[in-house]
Amino acid sequence: MTDWVEKVRQVIAARDQRLTPQRQLVLQVLAREGDSHLSAEEIYLLARREMPEIGLATVYRTLELFAELGVISRLEVGAGQARYELNRQPDLHYHHHLICRKCGRIEEFREDLLEELERRVEEETGFSITDHNLRFFGLCRSCRTNGSA
Ligand SMILES: [Zn+2]
Ligand SMILES: [Zn+2]
Ligand SMILES: [Zn+2]
Repeated sequence: MTDWVEKVRQVIAARDQRLTPQRQLVLQVLAREGDSHLSAEEIYLLARREMPEIGLATVYRTLELFAELGVISRLEVGAGQARYELNRQPDLHYHHHLICRKCGRIEEFREDLLEELERRVEEETGFSITDHNLRFFGLCRSCRTNGSA
C-alpha cells in the first residue's frame, strides 16, 4: 500500500502535480475499499469522515486527474453514472464487469477470455491492443432468485 502510494506520487510528480493531503486521502479511500467500485459521492462521504473540510468538487477534480493519469479507472455503469476503481496493474487487462440493472451491484469476472479475438483484430488491423472495456448488463444472482425482474 505504501509502495503503491509512492508510485502514484511519482506519476503525479512527473506531471508537475502534487499529491496533496486531499488527493492522498481520495487514494487511500479507493485503496481501502478494494473492489467496491465506488461512486464519486460515496468516495466523498468516506473522505469527509477523515477530512471534514474536503469538498465534493475537489473529490471530482481529483478523480478526473487520477483517471487521466491512469491511476484509477472510470467505469460507466449506465444512466450517466460512473464508478471508480484503482488501476493497480495497468499492464494487466483481465477483468470484465457485470452490472445488475435491478440493484446496481457490480461484480467482476476475472478472466480475459478475449485473447483469440484480440489476436485476430491485431492481425487484421495491425493495431496493438493494450486494453479493452467490456460491461455485461443484466440481473445478478440474488435479483434473479428474489422473484421475477
Ligand atoms: Zn441485482
Ligand atoms: Zn472492477
Ligand atoms: Zn484482453
